[in-house]
Amino acid sequence: MPTSSCLDIDEQWSGKAPFNIYGPCSAESPEQLFKTAEGLHDRFGRVIFRAGIWKPRTRPGSFEGVGEEGLVWLREVRDRFGFQVMTEVANARHVELCLKSGIDMVWIGARTAVNPFYVHEISEALRGTDMPVFLKNPIHGEISLWIGGLERLNGAGIRKLGAIHRGFYVWKSHPYRNAPMWELPIELKQNFDKLPIICDISHIAGARHLLPMLAQKAIDLDFNGLMVETHFRPDEALSDASQQLTPDDLWAMISGLTRRTTSFEENDGLNRLRRKIDALDDLALETISKRMKIVQEIGKFKNENNITILQVGRLREMIQRNVKNGTALGLSEKFVDEMLRIVHSESIRQQNEIMNRPEDPEGPDSR
Ligand code: PEP
Ligand code: MN
Repeated sequence: MPTSSCLDIDEQWSGKAPFNIYGPCSAESPEQLFKTAEGLHDRFGRVIFRAGIWKPRTRPGSFEGVGEEGLVWLREVRDRFGFQVMTEVANARHVELCLKSGIDMVWIGARTAVNPFYVHEISEALRGTDMPVFLKNPIHGEISLWIGGLERLNGAGIRKLGAIHRGFYVWKSHPYRNAPMWELPIELKQNFDKLPIICDISHIAGARHLLPMLAQKAIDLDFNGLMVETHFRPDEALSDASQQLTPDDLWAMISGLTRRTTSFEENDGLNRLRRKIDALDDLALETISKRMKIVQEIGKFKNENNITILQVGRLREMIQRNVKNGTALGLSEKFVDEMLRIVHSESIRQQNEIMNRPEDPEGPDSR
């Protein structure tokens, strides 16, 4: 999997942290936007304010957004509260309108991210601009498609680029609306360490009560920020009512998170402990390597004396002895048992190589 490419991300942009993206699923009315923004402003001071104005709904007949006039309201939110404002774009026309009305950032939604033609069209519409763009993961868990979208945007010169993890559609992903499949954003992070990745806990959860646990998980996995849908009256929201929080509840949730540092340099004590672990790991590997050398000698002995590789009685005795000693040292029985079985299977593999090595016509030194 998946890539050998690298993304050219603006260093200053990627060093900026964290991205706190809050605001309603959809812009519904000026009143709804301003009341929500006011609540966020009172609690947080500054946020990146999100609101969808073109809503890509799964089924027709649901609220499909207020369209273009929402851009005027968003601009007013920016002017009144000093927020950066952000909305979703799904085609070149949306991009043009956002550029014209001075929207600060855009995101590309999960239903658009699945289609390379749309992502290409949006990338071309953005070419030559300095617009920050976040690409949500495609609805299904195909990480190459997500990476391909980021490459398309980057190829059009977008260097203020980010990804948003919003979970993946899976049939019956209970309890989530979209299964988090954390290994995918982790894989993305490992491939592109400068790429900011935001966690959209609202669309993963689909329900309010799951949000605090997901927010903590995202913090623990070192995401570069959270996107959380926020509405001054969540139960009356025209879209995604069950997953939105009031600004006050959002504040309580964010205040309750435990933040842990990840940086070596920031924490001397952690650094010292990690050096000790490294030294002990070196010792453990040296010891295992010495053990394997003896295993090889035993292999030669068994070969010369026609003894079978596997001696079940000896294996049982060796595991029992070590489990007893290991548990006395505070290790769990399961751990010692599993670790020794892995070591033992490597011993068997090595002995098998010695004992069943095919005759080498060019002599023992030719391998
Ligand atoms: C949204 O952010 O409101 C939205 C529609 O999200 P997604 O594209 O992740 O479904
Ligand atoms: Mn939504």
